[in-house]
Amino acid sequence: MIPSVLPTYARAKLNFVKGEGSWLIEEGGDRYLDLGAGIAVNALGHANPDLIGALTAQAHKLWHVSNLYEIPGQKVLADKLVEASFADTVFFTNSGTEAAELAIKMSRKYHYDRGDTDRVEIITFSGCFHGRSTGAIAASGAEKMVKGFGPLMPGFVHLDFGDHDALRAAVTEKTAAILIEPVQGEGGIRPVPDQCLKGLRDLCDETGTLLIFDEVQCGVGRTGKFFAHEWAGVTPDICMSAKGIGGGFPLGAVLATEDAASGMVVGTHGSTYGGNPLAMAVGIKMVDVVTGNGFLDDVNRKAGLLRQKLEGLTDAHPDIFDSVRGVGLMLGLKCKVAPADLVAAGYDAHVITVPAADNVVRLLPPLNITDEDIAEGVARLDAAAMALEAKA
Ligand SMILES: *Cc1c(COP(=O)(O)O)cnc(C)c1O
Repeated sequence: MIPSVLPTYARAKLNFVKGEGSWLIEEGGDRYLDLGAGIAVNALGHANPDLIGALTAQAHKLWHVSNLYEIPGQKVLADKLVEASFADTVFFTNSGTEAAELAIKMSRKYHYDRGDTDRVEIITFSGCFHGRSTGAIAASGAEKMVKGFGPLMPGFVHLDFGDHDALRAAVTEKTAAILIEPVQGEGGIRPVPDQCLKGLRDLCDETGTLLIFDEVQCGVGRTGKFFAHEWAGVTPDICMSAKGIGGGFPLGAVLATEDAASGMVVGTHGSTYGGNPLAMAVGIKMVDVVTGNGFLDDVNRKAGLLRQKLEGLTDAHPDIFDSVRGVGLMLGLKCKVAPADLVAAGYDAHVITVPAADNVVRLLPPLNITDEDIAEGVARLDAAAMALEAKA
């Protein structure tokens, strides 16, 4: 008999009932150090007092009115995001997938309004992940996501990650946009080299193609800059955000330049929940904290500490680990064992990590994790690696 919850997830048998900072607590009181943060979502950890304060204050005032009316928090948060980034304007969604949908629509409409009605193709890269809507799975093209769900939305061109010649050849008079994660998350923590992001920007400028960055996982302080693309010194035309921006409350956003957004006039897009007062209250607090004095400096310092300890861990267990990669607190352990085995051994050692493609286990801790918890987390990963060695 089918379970009452549609069984689309392979869940671990862990039953958390409470969170405190970087810790998750099971019914019986067992404590797990959370280096996954709900897949880069709980950027300020669990039960953060600032976020609880912002959410509950708003909850006592007003939950929802719809976008038929003014929602003052939207302007407050949009102003902050515009101030903190390349963008001139922002649309609020409830998830990363919805941000992908709008980014796709926005880029096509941009060219349509210029009379370039054939410029509909969007170029994406192997290993990418942009969500699970029909548009977002078509964008990925990965067999495991699209199989059985056709016909897929047409207009996506899939290229191999890092194949520069193929990329140049693929940009034609039909290309609307290039869509890329500056650091691939699900694909296995694969940073795009700064030089390549610069090259993409140049190629887009030469050809009038829009450049879309998917920063749903790598954005909002995760890599030690507000947006990961800042490391390369390039800006996109459109940028997707979600995950960390809500800190655990469902929130996403599409940021864009005035030019790129010019086609999205009244009536072209909408969302019932998008930008609702509760989400805005949390998002405002989140952005205030992440852009606040010294916060990102501290993320970078902690990232250095974690990375150094992980280099030691991988050196100590050459049969388990290949290498460490990633940026800031978005790190990957490239494994020589099955990532699922390391994640499971981690559960036994009471440390939470997240598997990814390309034989990688992801570490995406809360951005405000303490130095002690970093040391404890690596000690528990060490115990997990030893347990796997003992089994081999
Ligand atoms: C998680 C993710 C998405 C999808 O976000 P949802 O909130 O799950 O819809 C899109 N792009 C990237 C890079 C992601 O990591």
